[in-house]
Amino acid sequence: MRVRTRFAPSPTGYLHLGGARTALFSWLYARREEGLFLLRIEDTDPERSEARYSEAILDSLRWLGLDWDEGPIYQSQRLGRYREVAEALVQAGRAYRCYCTPQELETMRAEQTTRGLKPRYDGRCRMRTEPRADVRPVVRFRTPEAGSVAFTDLVRGAIRFDNAELDDLVLLRSDGSPTYNFGVVVDDHDMGVTHVVRGDDHINNTPRQIHLFEALRAPLPAFAHVPMILGADGTRLSKRHGAVSVGHYREEGYLPEALLNLLVRMGWSHGDQEIFTREEMMRLFSLEHVQRAPAVFDPKKLDWLNQHYLKTLPEERIRRELVPFFARAGLPPPEASPVWLEALRSRARTLADMTAQARVFYTRAENYDPEAVRRHLGDGARALLADLRTLLATLPTWSPPSLHAALASFADSRGVKLGAVAQPLRVALTGSSVSPPIDVLLAGLGRDESLGRLEILPPPAPEA
Ligand code: GLU
Repeated sequence: MRVRTRFAPSPTGYLHLGGARTALFSWLYARREEGLFLLRIEDTDPERSEARYSEAILDSLRWLGLDWDEGPIYQSQRLGRYREVAEALVQAGRAYRCYCTPQELETMRAEQTTRGLKPRYDGRCRMRTEPRADVRPVVRFRTPEAGSVAFTDLVRGAIRFDNAELDDLVLLRSDGSPTYNFGVVVDDHDMGVTHVVRGDDHINNTPRQIHLFEALRAPLPAFAHVPMILGADGTRLSKRHGAVSVGHYREEGYLPEALLNLLVRMGWSHGDQEIFTREEMMRLFSLEHVQRAPAVFDPKKLDWLNQHYLKTLPEERIRRELVPFFARAGLPPPEASPVWLEALRSRARTLADMTAQARVFYTRAENYDPEAVRRHLGDGARALLADLRTLLATLPTWSPPSLHAALASFADSRGVKLGAVAQPLRVALTGSSVSPPIDVLLAGLGRDESLGRLEILPPPAPEA
């Protein structure tokens, strides 16, 4: 039978790293097994679901390259189907209508708590034969009272729950909408899902879902519960740990390759390999090598991976990735093979960073950093720069090596260190004491622009 996996996000927020990692594992397993990867949007909670989140989730999946073969199926469009299945379960005696009011349930819970019992629905409507005129019922599943439910999780191994632990769960709410556990089972069955790969925060739901599959006489899928992702402080990864949505990392200028690489290593490993191409991941991934212990998110590792890809991807690709960043910064699209590209991509952490560093090549500083001017553009430095400008005007070739050599010999002739020339030059050219390497800066600006900028220096800084 062909493998069919799925990813089933709830559109109550953006795609976060945990969701993306689950999607990746589910997708990789399908790809590795030459199966199909399906998408389902679990949007039956109208209070919390928003169409813009569904769109954003799809967008993030596309950006990561996690392509799906079927769907997206929207649960909100399948409400009739859930009612039909619930009704069939009622007819078959596997489910029943419960007319208990919220107040009655509250009283039940309070009594159980005072008696030191775990609060659970006591099944009092199981035997009811007459409706209550003033109450819109829910549909509850008739959970087997004795025995246990066992399954072998592909990640966690053998798992068993006593049925006595499980109460009669609601399948349909009084407004006719399905609960999570019910919608999932109806859909996983209708979609022919063979492998349910999801976060292990759902492990307690699995026995309930297995009962439902059995009640529907549906074949049971295999389950793989993948570990949670924690922040460095050991708590579950959340906004408190900084950016966690995929879209946010995209906007900051991380490459999808870097994020995928980070994600694949959160809970899975192949020896001590850190860098995986998409093809390698597809070839090597296996659920058996997914660890049980929670994975820890390390933002420094993401930076390291991103720098790796900034350095090693083809230039063409990096330029294409830079286009939206340049546009947002008001810069024209980068031309082919600009002099600065190599230098910047070996220094920058992100595309946003590269853009900020490339800015000096396109625009003159509007504001000079007063501290930099005070430190590096005193009278002596200005005299030095005037002489240097004269020298540079006659330099036969204008390339990083020839510029470097010219600056070094100029510094030498004045008996100063290279930095004593480079820093004033940098501040004069960019307004700041931080910039790409000085030879790259000059070469990237070109002779005319460099000499032009050196001609008009900022006024001396006022005394501090
Ligand atoms: N909508 C659920 C979630 O986002 C899906 C869980 C599942 O895959 O069954 O957690």
